[in-house]
Amino acid sequence: MTFLFNSDAKRGAIFAKAFSRELPEIPFATDPAAVDPETVRYLITWTLPEDLSRYNNLEILFSVGAGVDQFRIDAVPPHAQVVRMVEDGITRMMQEYVTLAVLALHRNLPAYLERQRCENWQAIAPVQAAERRVGVLGLGMLGTAVLDRLMPFGFPLSGWSRSPHEIEGVRCLTGRNGLDALLVSTDILICLLPLTDETRSLLNAQLFARLPAGAALVHVGRGPQLDHQALLQALDSGHLSGAVIDVTDPEPLPPGHPFWGHPKILLTPHIASVTQPETAANAVIENIKRHRSGLKPFGLVDRRRGY
Ligand code: NAP
Repeated sequence: MTFLFNSDAKRGAIFAKAFSRELPEIPFATDPAAVDPETVRYLITWTLPEDLSRYNNLEILFSVGAGVDQFRIDAVPPHAQVVRMVEDGITRMMQEYVTLAVLALHRNLPAYLERQRCENWQAIAPVQAAERRVGVLGLGMLGTAVLDRLMPFGFPLSGWSRSPHEIEGVRCLTGRNGLDALLVSTDILICLLPLTDETRSLLNAQLFARLPAGAALVHVGRGPQLDHQALLQALDSGHLSGAVIDVTDPEPLPPGHPFWGHPKILLTPHIASVTQPETAANAVIENIKRHRSGLKPFGLVDRRRGY
């Protein structure tokens, strides 16, 4: 039985140390050429290796990241479970980033940065948190963690998911009607949805038109969920007031793309949250222990839903 680590060497050293301490009975390998593929029961990787089918006895395929949209799930042998990364480091970083973004938009930071460039000492009438409605698309591990962190500020909070959720202090909605109800009453919209066929291009002109005038966007899901032209039109027409964008399609964003210099856009290079090797190693070890005692791993992907 082997655990095969297929990612960068620095992370690999941290994983190897944790495995030797917590799961010494499972050989830890980093070189696919040096292992007998028949022995590989666990594999962690960011993208699928081309020769995946040679791992006949694979039991769990772990994603290095929180999403699995980079995998072609139908190429994963049916006998293997697919597990995304669920670990404290990712959650904490996402809470920080979204709080930063929401407060920046709430306190008009993009507009003040522009005024600073123009040496313009002029205030914008402040809006109190109780009047700034925040809506989160996706009530999974990250959406709920972000809502929890935003709650003490006093923003009215709503969330949208596929299945019904109950979160104290959050208006939870589902379905197309639920999405509509959320959009018409959201001033800052946060996208924390996984990329699936249903969520691709969801952030489009139609969706932006449903938001109230002056609303803003925080996009931390996946690049292909956002229609760039639609966002630019909504910002340039004045319908939307600002956007904080962490994910784009393609990544990196090409030179000269209008997002780079747009005065209403704060842009970051897909850094909202990054897998932290120490906590990730612990999470993977815990999941292997759960799996070996017949329990479902945390972050198990439903292949039909695609997340
Ligand atoms: P998760 O736990 O799987 O939660 C996904 C949420 O989205 C669930 O609430 C789910 O509804 C909802 N959802 C999925 N498809 C939907 C649909 N068609 N309509 C309505 N709701 C839908 O995922 P997570 O861990 O919170 O992560 C979310 C995403 O964040 C990841 O997939 C990744 O794309 C992104 N991410 C970005 C970064 C970054 O640095 N920018 C870092 C990490 C993750 P149910 O609850 O009903 O299933």
